[in-house]
Amino acid sequence: MNLYSDLIMEHNRFPRGFGRIENATHVAHGHNPLCGDNIVVRLRKEGDAIVDAGFEGVACAICKASASMMMESLKVEGDNKLEPFLNLLQTGEGDLGDLQVFEAVWNYPARVKCAALPWRTLQSALKGEEETTTEES
Ligand code: ZN
Repeated sequence: MNLYSDLIMEHNRFPRGFGRIENATHVAHGHNPLCGDNIVVRLRKEGDAIVDAGFEGVACAICKASASMMMESLKVEGDNKLEPFLNLLQTGEGDLGDLQVFEAVWNYPARVKCAALPWRTLQSALKGEEETTTEES
């Protein structure tokens, strides 16, 4: 499977949910020093529901496409795909619809961090942590 599939390249060119949303209730910054990906994820929650979400920053094609597809997923089904997606990146196994294109990434450890960053940042935002990094200290 090609790492830079048409779907990934299309999301990279036209990222969904790119920009700053108003009245965010949850914000986190994510950094992947190995690649230079630097993104901010903002959410607005009402109760348990994520009613708006956006991201911005500078990121490579894999990271930006992952963030874009995460935004689409958030709008449809909230954070339901968060754990399955991180699991897909670790194991190459899953049944995640369009997100399954990232199955190709798990063979490339350096790229896994790029694809994981938006979701790890989402995870931090939901937990109320403001910073995340792909490198554990
Ligand atoms: Zn990257």
